[in-house]
Amino acid sequence: MTARRFQGGTLVIASHNAGKVREIGELLAPFGVQVISAGELGLAEPEETGETFAANAELKAHAAARAASLPALADDSGLAVDALAGAPGIYSARWAGPDKDFSRAMAKVNQALGNEADRRARFVCALSLAWPDGHCETFEGTVEGEIVWPPRGDGGFGYDPIFLPIAGTLTFGEMEAGAKHAISHRADAFRKLVAACFGG
Ligand code: IMP
Repeated sequence: MTARRFQGGTLVIASHNAGKVREIGELLAPFGVQVISAGELGLAEPEETGETFAANAELKAHAAARAASLPALADDSGLAVDALAGAPGIYSARWAGPDKDFSRAMAKVNQALGNEADRRARFVCALSLAWPDGHCETFEGTVEGEIVWPPRGDGGFGYDPIFLPIAGTLTFGEMEAGAKHAISHRADAFRKLVAACFGG
């Protein structure tokens, strides 16, 4: 099945994070897309009740597309650790608590792993593009790596200082932003979305 393509015009970014909206706007500008955020439109943020990254991205994209009567793009992402059965997964942000304390969230991952020899993990990003008629296209990007302890580097955000990408020597927290963006789960998902719905 070929994906439905975005036909041009305005795209709602189903996020209230101004940095994320600006970054997505820059990525899609070459395709003649104008973006507006759910925040600017005063749309409510739906509760993330899904059990997968894709389900959460889809419910956020559907809610924004219906409310704005425009196509809408949403993402959901997080860290999945193999030996923790995929945790923190969709709860990655929630593990940091209400004060968004990622030192605590990283310590929680390390504590949960204990002496476990299998340190494999991946970042996952689901991107969902939904239309007001209920159609949606979802793409998933990943980057494989392992958990290191103690945390290394103060770049990036979230769990970056404990994530060492496969075959790499620097954690995401130690890498230049451009180097991380070239291999990240978000970049992988965007490449798939653009190829299917915007490019060519
Ligand atoms: P959200 O999809 O914006 O809700 O992000 C989910 C959470 O996953 C973030 O708060 C981070 O904890 C984590 N996360 C997602 N992507 C990254 C990344 O590139 N580096 C570090 N942590 C990330």
